[in-house]
Amino acid sequence: MADFKTVEVSSDLLIIGAGFSACGAATEASYWAKKNGLKVVMVDKAATDRSGAVAMGLSAINQYVGVKDGENTVEDYVRYVRQDLMGVSREDLVYNIARHVDSTVHLFEKWGLKIWKDEAGKYVHEGRWQLMINGESYKIIIAEAAKNALADAGGELYERVFIVGPLMDGNRCVGAVGFSTRENQFYVFKAKAVIIGAGGAVHVFRPRSVGEGFGRSWYPPFNSGTSAYFTLQAGAEMTCQEVRFIPVRFKDGYGPVGAWFLLFQSRAISAVGGDYMVEHVDELENWAPYGLAKPIPANLRNYLGMMDVDAGLGPLYMETDEAIQKIANEYKDDPKAFKKKMKELESEAWEDFLDMTISQAILWAGLNVKPDEKHSEIAACEPYFIGSHSGASGAWVSGPEDLDTPYKWGYTNMTTAEGLFAVGDASGASSHKFSSGSHTEGRIAGKQAIKYILEKGKEPNVDMAKAEEMKKAILNPLDLFEQYKDEFTDPEVNTHYIMPRQFLHRLQKIMDEYAGGVTSAFKTSKALLERGLELMEYLREDSDKQAARSLHELTRAWENIQRMWIAESHIRTMLFREETRWPGYYFRADTPKMDNDNWLCFCNCRWNPDSGEWEMSKKDIWTMPGV
Ligand SMILES: Cc1cc2nc3c(=O)[nH]c(=O)nc-3n(C[C@H](O)[C@H](O)[C@H](O)COP(=O)(O)OP(=O)(O)OC[C@H]3O[C@@H](n4cnc5c(N)ncnc54)[C@H](O)[C@@H]3O)c2cc1C
Repeated sequence: MADFKTVEVSSDLLIIGAGFSACGAATEASYWAKKNGLKVVMVDKAATDRSGAVAMGLSAINQYVGVKDGENTVEDYVRYVRQDLMGVSREDLVYNIARHVDSTVHLFEKWGLKIWKDEAGKYVHEGRWQLMINGESYKIIIAEAAKNALADAGGELYERVFIVGPLMDGNRCVGAVGFSTRENQFYVFKAKAVIIGAGGAVHVFRPRSVGEGFGRSWYPPFNSGTSAYFTLQAGAEMTCQEVRFIPVRFKDGYGPVGAWFLLFQSRAISAVGGDYMVEHVDELENWAPYGLAKPIPANLRNYLGMMDVDAGLGPLYMETDEAIQKIANEYKDDPKAFKKKMKELESEAWEDFLDMTISQAILWAGLNVKPDEKHSEIAACEPYFIGSHSGASGAWVSGPEDLDTPYKWGYTNMTTAEGLFAVGDASGASSHKFSSGSHTEGRIAGKQAIKYILEKGKEPNVDMAKAEEMKKAILNPLDLFEQYKDEFTDPEVNTHYIMPRQFLHRLQKIMDEYAGGVTSAFKTSKALLERGLELMEYLREDSDKQAARSLHELTRAWENIQRMWIAESHIRTMLFREETRWPGYYFRADTPKMDNDNWLCFCNCRWNPDSGEWEMSKKDIWTMPGV
């Protein structure tokens, strides 16, 4: 076996990930841990300052309810999420986050985040729920607060440690194992409670960007499905694993469109100039009641654009020039003011990208795009798993203690595995949390996890023999490479092993062609999904034949395995749900209609660690009384 030192780290609470939700958990849990003499440890595969989906920064905070200004109510937010997810959302969780999210945003401002204000000193909204920010350093600000809180409470932060899977004592999660991405060290983290907040998953499906552009995607390449893998391996129940997110973004650079649609009120059109939101409005009746209410769900907006693409009317374009001209025209009688406004709008357009998707600004520059003169191409991206955004996949977690809901078996945000909490992209059916809501959910779970430790926490019973077995399996790709690398002239082509990049291409091909990826126009069917599952079986057989010649490739190998698991849960849940509820995210071509009688429900899945079998189930939807 490769020579790796085993490092044991003991704590009361282990937080996995140091992204937005985990930083929220660390900030809050540290406060309560300090009061009670407990130790918190946070661990991330990257560097907290620039890790996760907000690594590059953001240009807007997407969840702010504005209760103090009387702008909206918490119930309004519950209605909004219900509508966008076509009736399938955990309203108790959505409500819980929404009632606390404003205070999180106020904390962000206190910590130094610049939120735009108008002349009257009120926040500038991008849309009803979104606030404009100067967000290039958003992640650094939130990371600093978490690091300070941890340090103040005597906690520890481990960076560049890739977490592979959970340590279990029966149904109780007692820690995690992983390895350093920089040194030959294997980590065994022991804890009385664990919070998983390691984000969603990308590169499960073949991306549009292949070849020289490979790696460029809307969702950050760092998140590989660790959260789903971790919760599945723990034997915890998952929900909405069929709900992937497909954003429509500026093509190839994946630049954000929110500011264009909401702030600049831009239109999107087909190649022949038709506004698909107007021309296909009748189609929305087929998706009533959601298609007929406002705002139109994100997937239905996608779908209307896809109808044009299917009809050969692509490419689609964002009418940036028209939108800018329309706004500036209000100043047309004053040439000086007009010129100034045009300059201001142009700079806002570029800053939007520079704040959060720099590559789009580079692409625009490379293609000589002047947004005030010419429209820009938009396209539907490949599918991603991001339960905190407009997707919904993640763990099935216990609801808030003070709400009378049917979903309560423990502490808020605890999964069905004892002592394991899930937050952000890791917790399911509570979409539209975004950055602020994910941080809020982290805070909620952080406080609850400390409560759990105080009331029920036991010394973690970690079987070190089992941990050693895990170490051997985790390091196997390094051993495999060393053992066989010289048998063939090209170290990448070998009958004894497969390289992580090759394995990834195989996974992506299966998902793309059988599970409704880009090249299948997001369509799938029972027969395709069943065939996809058959092929996944062969892929799984080869997963422990991956070889790695460095720590970097070892990380890639384990990211692949985590992706493979979320992929399988996705296929199985799409197969289970025999209807099309979210056209624009995926179509079951054999069951093309929404079926509210049979499928207005959560589709849950669980991998049973004892039998190795998958268990599928339906769960009723609880709607908040009077909302
Ligand atoms: C392109 C894009 C644009 C967005 N725009 C906005 C916006 O404008 N406004 C807004 O409010 N929200 C926006 N969001 C949503 C927001 O970024 C997410 O909701 C939020 O980051 C989710 O928090 P999280 O903690 O679940 O995941 P993340 O913040 O992504 O954190 C996950 C963390 O887990 C770590 N990790 C992953 N795997 C492992 C492992 N194996 N071991 C250890 N650590 C691991 C990662 O390094 C990372 O630090 C956007 C998201 C994306 C992808």
